[in-house]
Amino acid sequence: MGVNLVIFGPPGSGKGTYASRLQLKLGIPTIATGDMLRGIARQKSKLAKTVKDCMSTGELVPDGIVIHILKERLARDDCRKGFILDGFPRTIGQAGALDEITEVDAIILLHVPEWVLVERLSSRRVCRRCGEVFNILYLKPREEGVCDECGGELYQRMDDTPRVVKDRLKVYEKQTEPLIRHYKGKLPFVEFRCEKLEVPPEVAVEEILKELEKLRLR
Ligand code: AMP
Repeated sequence: MGVNLVIFGPPGSGKGTYASRLQLKLGIPTIATGDMLRGIARQKSKLAKTVKDCMSTGELVPDGIVIHILKERLARDDCRKGFILDGFPRTIGQAGALDEITEVDAIILLHVPEWVLVERLSSRRVCRRCGEVFNILYLKPREEGVCDECGGELYQRMDDTPRVVKDRLKVYEKQTEPLIRHYKGKLPFVEFRCEKLEVPPEVAVEEILKELEKLRLR
């Protein structure tokens, strides 16, 4: 039996970094709607323009679009043994859609203070080719501007600028935090607190895995 996990936390809380390590330990794929939408935004179509316009201002992409791509992705074979959802659900409507598609076994919730988020996001760099995440302050690549994993070029996301970051944090508070209340009491929560700018991902991941073990989800 696989395990279906959702990882929640504000932008910059480490969701993607932890999910990419957890997926290796658990042998299940990470489904990151942000990555999928960035892929669509690079194409040339009306849909791509809608997606790009929302993402560049930090707004959420309409539920109908995101639910459709998520549903298709979860139907693929590799999700049969479980998955980690990173960045979905983000609204109550998306949570309702997810309930209809499949069951979730546990929520991983990351707590990080706002000053850490702002600092981390403005120094974040992402690999254009494989999506691996680095930070020029504390999670530096071996060679500047080059991905350790695949040699791809590192870039700064268009929504990691200070103004857009502030808007994204507001959107999280308004639209995504109510989801935590929606799931509390219904599903087990694995909560990880990080009060510092720099926490080695391995430390966070080990703690999360220990908690999953206690819930017999590992
Ligand atoms: P992320 O990579 O998760 O930080 O997402 C980057 C951006 O993609 C967000 O600011 C939204 O514009 C869009 N996005 C990602 N996931 C969703 C979602 N589940 N619903 C709506 N918009 C999303």
